Amino acid sequence: MWIKFTTGLGPAQLRCASCGTVFDSGLREWGAIPVLERFRYVVLSCIYGVLVGLFPALLSVSLFGLVTHNTDRTFPPNSLMFTVIGLWAFLVLVLQAVRVFLSGLRSEASNPEPMLVSRWNWQINLHSYAQGFDLVCLLLYLLVAFLPK
Ligand SMILES: [Zn+2]
Repeated sequence: MWIKFTTGLGPAQLRCASCGTVFDSGLREWGAIPVLERFRYVVLSCIYGVLVGLFPALLSVSLFGLVTHNTDRTFPPNSLMFTVIGLWAFLVLVLQAVRVFLSGLRSEASNPEPMLVSRWNWQINLHSYAQGFDLVCLLLYLLVAFLPK
């Protein structure tokens, strides 16, 4: 499930926030990405959004079952589940759009400095945040769904 979808968007060069070393990121700014690969970026962002939303959706279903004293808190696919998935997919798409916007701003800068990054940089490491969040949701889901009734 936790495939790293490399959309490849970002500054070509990065500067390490702790030691200052400049290195090639293997990423490209939006303007340097061919049209077909931009399409891929959009498609992958949609898929990724749904995957990110899956875990909080499962959690919401199990919490709903807990609150309503439903005996089955495991996997009743319902409108709540799809609403939560939709909301998270939308949020991921918004974040991905902001990344494209910021990429455009960087490309327009007259003297582009290598972006200063640590592992906590959300633009470079968005998938790490998503995976961490999903892991927490999954653990909580398992806890709630399989709690002794
Ligand atoms: Zn370093």
